Parts: sequence; structure tokens; C-alpha cells
Amino acid sequence: MIPPVASQFVAGEEPATAFEHTRRANEDGVAVILNLLGEHYHERPPADADTAAYEQLVADLGETELDGCVSVKPSQLGLDVGPDVFRENYRRVVAAGDEHDVFVWCDMEDATTTDTTLDAFEELAHEFDGGVGLCVQANLRRTRADLERLVDVPGKIRLVKGAYDEGEEISYTEKAEVDEAYRENLTYLFKNRDEGIGVGSHDPEMIAYAQELQERHGGEFEVQMLMGVREDAQRRLAAEGHEVWQYAPYGAKWLSYFYRRVRERKENLTFAARAVLGV
Ligand code: FAD
Repeated sequence: MIPPVASQFVAGEEPATAFEHTRRANEDGVAVILNLLGEHYHERPPADADTAAYEQLVADLGETELDGCVSVKPSQLGLDVGPDVFRENYRRVVAAGDEHDVFVWCDMEDATTTDTTLDAFEELAHEFDGGVGLCVQANLRRTRADLERLVDVPGKIRLVKGAYDEGEEISYTEKAEVDEAYRENLTYLFKNRDEGIGVGSHDPEMIAYAQELQERHGGEFEVQMLMGVREDAQRRLAAEGHEVWQYAPYGAKWLSYFYRRVRERKENLTFAARAVLGV
């Protein structure tokens, strides 16, 4: 049972609670990206088990009227076991998504995984004609070059600031530099794409900048935020007519995810506690 303080950030432990959460978010005009919690498996059985769980999730989601999709993690699908295992399992989830008309995102993990993840995404994006999306991280110096490679690939791109601490030689480490890189990468996307741009940020300045870029260059974008973070803004943006997606994790492995949210921003704990206590 997930304690109320954590359930601000996690949509229960089972697909049924995740679907119920999705239904409620949809009522506010917010679509949901479901993520089964799990990562860094070093043996094949848990990676295969989560792959099978995603196949079932996608099949079940496809049967509903819910406005939802899924997002997988490379190390959850077996990247630490081997790149071939990841590619095979990723393909299985994407093929299920294709069969049941459910979009499949892929999160981006630490910089040692970027090349393998990009290669696998690019192959599937062509094969499944854009039914997939990939996250890229503005804190990595390489991302601008990666965007040049991805810009004509079908599918969607979610730009985030980046959640992993990387070395100075491969990443921007100052917040101001990361914000600047985010703006530059977003500008590049708007100048070179008409659709499939995901603004994965809670930062009001980045969202306002995306709106500015849309006015200047046209193009469609969606805002993506995490469950439990700025949900008032998610509802407001949706009411204003923006496409808003909420990334909602669920599953038994909720504790480490909750700690990560708290470490990232200590206020999260205060916000969550206030919401639970109604103060
Ligand atoms: P920050 O720089 O953290 O904050 C900027 C401003 O946003 C703050 O000053 C404040 O005004 C507002 N804000 C931020 N958090 C809060 C809060 N809790 N409450 C109120 N206001 C707040 N990272 C990866 O490396 N790989 C991924 O695959 C990945 N996927 C993601 C998917 C989604 C949908 C999202 C939203 C994030 C994802 N991330 C991922 C995390 C991302 O890289 C950042 O670590 C995280 O989003 C924090 O950066 P930020 O852009 O939200 O803004």
C-alpha cells in the first residue's frame, strides 16, 4: 500500500489504479504517459517480465477510451544485460503499441546509454512509422548534434533538461548553461519540425519560450510534466487549449522513485504533505 505522501507522485501499484488515475486526469483535459516503475536489471528474467507487462498494459490500454500512452526505460528492458536484449524487448513493446494503436515513448538514461538508445529508437521509428518518441537531454553537449540526426526521423522528441549528473567534459553543469542549451535546442526543433515536439519541463520560462517559438515559427508542441508536480499548471495549460501530457509512474517499485523526487526538490515533500494534510 502506497502511503498518501508518495501517492501524489505514483499512480498506485497496479495497472487498474494507473488507469483510474488516467481517467481522472483525462477529465481535466490532461493525457497520461504511463511508466511501469523498474530499472537497471542485470539479469534477463526481470527485463523480460517487465517487457511482457508492458505488452499487456499496451493491449489493455488500447481496449479503453483513455487518452494515454506508455514510456519505457532502456535499462528496464535489459540494456544492462546487453544491447541485444534491450533492442529485442524494446521492439516487442513497440510492436504491441503498433498493434493496439498506443504510442510508446523511451526515456533517456545516463550518457553511457545514449548511443545504443538513439540507434534503437531510430530503427524502430522508421520501421513503425513514427509510433515512437525519444527523450533527449539538454544538459548533454552532444544533444544538438543528436537533434540534427533525429530531426527528420518520424515520431516525437521530448526535450528535458536532464536528470543525470554527468562530467563537465560531456555536459553543462551550471543551471544557467543548461537553461541556455534547452532554449537553443528548443529553437532548433521549432525551426526544423512542424510537429512531434515535447516540452518536458515544469519550468514556466521554458513553456513560455515554447509558446513564443510557436508564434514565431508555427508548429505543434505538447507540454509534458510529472505527476504530482505543478498539477495546477497542467490543468490550466490544458484548459487554455494546450496539449498536456502527465508522466505517471506506477508499480510496486515506487519507493526509490519517490525518494528521487524528494531529493531532486525538497519542496516536493512539503507540497505532497500539504496536499495530503489539506493545509
Ligand atoms: P527545473 O530547472 O528543475 O526547475 C525550473 C523551474 O520549474 C523552477 O524554478 C520552478 O519554477 C519550476 N518547478 C520545477 N519543479 C517544480 C516543483 N516540484 N514544484 C513547483 N515548481 C517547480 N530526465 C532524464 O534525464 N531522462 C528522461 O527520460 C526524463 N523524462 C522526463 C519526462 C518528463 C515528462 C519530465 C517532466 C521530466 C523528465 N526528466 C527526464 C527529468 C528532467 O530531465 C528534469 O530533471 C526535471 O524535469 C527538472 O527540470 P525542469 O525542466 O522541470 O526544471
